[in-house]
Amino acid sequence: RQAAFRTDLSVLLDQVGGGKESLSFMKRRIRRLAQQWATAANRLGAKLGQRWRDQKKILIHVGFLTEESGDVFSPKVLKGGPLGEMVQWADILTALHVLGHNLKISMSVKELQGFLGVPPGRGSCPLTGPLPFDLIYTDYHGLQQMKQHMGLSLKKHKCHIRVIDTFGTEPAYNHEEYATLHGYRTNWGYWNLNARQYMTMFPHTPDNSFMGFVSEELNETEKRSIQQNKVNNMAVVYGKEASMWKQGKDSFLEILHKYMEVHGTVYYETQRPPEVPAFVKNHGLLPQHELQQLLRKAKLFIGFGFPYEGPAPLEAIANGCIFLQPKFQPPHSSLNHEFFRGKPTSREVFSQHPYAEEYIGRPYVMTVDYNNSLEFDSAVKEIMRTKVEPYLPYEYTCEGMLERVHAYIQNQVRSTQPLLGSASGSRVIRPLFVPLPNSTALGWASNVTAPAAWPPLSSLRLLVSQEGQSCVEACQSAGFICEPAHFRFVNNKEALLEVQCEVVDSEINHILPAFSVMRRECSLQREPLLFSCAGHSPKYRRLCPCRDFLRGQVALCRDCL
Ligand code: UDP
Repeated sequence: RQAAFRTDLSVLLDQVGGGKESLSFMKRRIRRLAQQWATAANRLGAKLGQRWRDQKKILIHVGFLTEESGDVFSPKVLKGGPLGEMVQWADILTALHVLGHNLKISMSVKELQGFLGVPPGRGSCPLTGPLPFDLIYTDYHGLQQMKQHMGLSLKKHKCHIRVIDTFGTEPAYNHEEYATLHGYRTNWGYWNLNARQYMTMFPHTPDNSFMGFVSEELNETEKRSIQQNKVNNMAVVYGKEASMWKQGKDSFLEILHKYMEVHGTVYYETQRPPEVPAFVKNHGLLPQHELQQLLRKAKLFIGFGFPYEGPAPLEAIANGCIFLQPKFQPPHSSLNHEFFRGKPTSREVFSQHPYAEEYIGRPYVMTVDYNNSLEFDSAVKEIMRTKVEPYLPYEYTCEGMLERVHAYIQNQVRSTQPLLGSASGSRVIRPLFVPLPNSTALGWASNVTAPAAWPPLSSLRLLVSQEGQSCVEACQSAGFICEPAHFRFVNNKEALLEVQCEVVDSEINHILPAFSVMRRECSLQREPLLFSCAGHSPKYRRLCPCRDFLRGQVALCRDCL
């Protein structure tokens, strides 16, 4: 069946149910953004024209909100606990509904069993027969629950699953045997999925798919009125829980206070939290729409280093604030920071919000060393002088999210399937030019087509990284993005021909395909699940499949739609 855009959200709101504070938060958000989603649906509908879109049967099982997983989030919704996940799930539900798919929503193991057709009381009875869904969106908790309740058949139906995974899972952590043998085993990873089945909150490693969420959009009248009503010396602090204000914040808060009136939205029960200095005007935790109002007046939104990579800085920038955040030197990662420890990624985080730093940047985002009081002082002064317009990257608008999710749903099912567990599938494509030293773009044969490929092969640019450089960095430095789906086309002798290796072998290692300059040895990848944009090694130059991307929509290439 053809999917038709929906602009009425009442059926969705009924499906979400009620009772818990987390669900009420999500429903308030869905209602608040309803008009925006409807406008976006109309615009995307016009853009896609008469294109056929399959209506999919989709199960959404929100594992972290189930009682069976302990549901630690719901009781904290009104107490300054994390809300980013709920923001994202509310937006995923809405996007799938608006795109016109046939949804079933489950927030408990019982509902999950009901939808999957597992008889009650027979927890481990494997699902027999075909899966009644084309796609299942869940999270790591939900995946574990499905393993328990679907038993053996989970393996069979794995390619239908999408895991919403805020910080991402790198291929080395995802491959069970490899992770176990090489020290990448964590509590989360090792599901042997195609890494693109993990969907992240921000475009972290391109090994995963970027799902994202949305932020409020302003019309021209609102933008103008915001700019007129900005209070140049008003700052709002990013941090809704008192613990985020602990330790070592006094020195730069004092500097900030020299120039600006400082506001906070820190949760408190009866008394003012002692961590929050007396000069801060604390509003207590605000409902989302009231926070937006506060941000509309403020000039500066300031991060203290935690929480990492949340939605709030995008909301602040969308409401005309400049986001000031600390640089991390050395970078934070699972090797040196408690928060990231045990997460299935080696990604190094160089500031509180790398997306804001790398994808948005000045004048909207300033990333400075907070230990350097001169640098901090001059940043605050510069912010007070700088005029900015409210700004929201297209990929975080409702239309941008609908466009991306539409493209994944219509194309990723086909293109991830052949890759799962199959070592073959590579086609011979010859690079046209000899690479120059360092990371240099090779030309690409334009007359080669592989009909099943998505993103299409026309987007491919082959590149050789420098020693020690990952494909994420190599592609980025050339103005492209690493595209894991293209690894299978470059994992062959022909692609390596120009780098003149004396030996070509094939191994199982997440930095391959690559070649060692010293030994003039090339190695191809033997395990497709280990194709990794993120991998790097000091002794190797990697062969990197990069692709072009749309401005403001990094998940999609020029010919992807
Ligand atoms: N938020 C809110 N009231 C507040 C402060 C924040 O509703 O007083 C919302 C904010 O609009 C954002 C969400 O909390 O969408 C998540 O914010 P944050 O960036 O802090 O990420 P988290 O750590 O909660 O995932």
